[in-house]
Amino acid sequence: QGYYTRRGGVGESGDFITSPEISQVFGELIGIWYISEWMAMGKPNTFQLVELGPGRGTLTEDILRVFKQLTSVLSKCDVSVHLVEVSPKLSEIQAVMLTGGTVQPNPEDESAYMKGISKTGIPIFWYRDIQDVPPGYSFYLAHEFFDALPIHKFQRTEKGWREVLVDIDPEVPDQLRFVLSPSRTPATQNFIQPEETRDHVEVCPEAGAIVQRLACRIEKDGGAALVADYGHDGTKTDTFRGFRNHKLHDVLSAPGTADLTADVDFSYLRKMAQGKTATLGPIKQREFLKNMGIDLRLQVLLQNSGDTATREQLLHSYDMLMNPKKMGDCFNFFALLPHHRFVHPDKKDKPESKSPLPPVAGFNELLLK
Ligand code: SAH
Repeated sequence: QGYYTRRGGVGESGDFITSPEISQVFGELIGIWYISEWMAMGKPNTFQLVELGPGRGTLTEDILRVFKQLTSVLSKCDVSVHLVEVSPKLSEIQAVMLTGGTVQPNPEDESAYMKGISKTGIPIFWYRDIQDVPPGYSFYLAHEFFDALPIHKFQRTEKGWREVLVDIDPEVPDQLRFVLSPSRTPATQNFIQPEETRDHVEVCPEAGAIVQRLACRIEKDGGAALVADYGHDGTKTDTFRGFRNHKLHDVLSAPGTADLTADVDFSYLRKMAQGKTATLGPIKQREFLKNMGIDLRLQVLLQNSGDTATREQLLHSYDMLMNPKKMGDCFNFFALLPHHRFVHPDKKDKPESKSPLPPVAGFNELLLK
């Protein structure tokens, strides 16, 4: 009933802009990350790419272009794409972007609400909930997804934890206001960690439930999840804010017309993985992209571009993604990987084996041979 199902303004003409909309390099490097993990995990002969909240579909489009360019590497692998999207408007935009617009609504034999074939020949399916995505070896992607899910806010008081609630202002007509619950609520009793030290916390139980689901699926069927978002590792307090037409917007005014967002608490996501998978990060976006080789990719694109305007655009978008004062520091990358990814496959037979495990790209410094 909210913003994403009715409006959902990603992109320059909308309410906010995201990294894949700024530069093609972003999605290309993420595509490389999946190929790298697929190789490190022994090149399974099939995988699903599952994206949560694909926005305009730009990130998937850039990833699929990399898969196409690396056809010789992926040739024997059966790849399919599964998009989890609640917004009817955005799913239409994704369908046009990825398939050219030829999709089949409500296919009978599937749990998907829509299906089609990508321009590069890969089957694509749409769902409203991760639970509808068929089980199987999967690489998951959530870029600026978790920050869009609703949060609970809590305030520590002398009488204990109280929930911050939204009330109708009795003094001003049509105006909402924040109030503190007069006593404990079910949420204060269930969602605050016993060891919490902050005085104000925001908890997104829906994000926790989704991470639990991802961790269970990865533990059972294999794969990995890459989560990228602005956030912190359990240190920040009041981050709830709204954006409309690229400007900060009062979260309580004109509900449903602005993008509401809160920083992702990665320490909470790590806890919710419950040890079912290993976790890596959060690591800053500028470090992750540097480790993924963004500098090299930029050089190649600059060399290949003839006109000054394109070169300027490339440099400008690199600065947006990497500058610590822009998106470089506040965005983070976080990954869920199966425990066996960190155990040498030879170890059982040859405990003396010394050959190193392939490092996880992006989370380790890039060493060029
Ligand atoms: N990943 C994209 C878009 C981010 S915006 C990018 O980086 O450009 C958030 C996306 O999540 C939108 O596609 C929105 O429609 C979707 N979304 C929001 N809430 C959702 C929910 N509960 N389930 C599935 N998708 C949701």
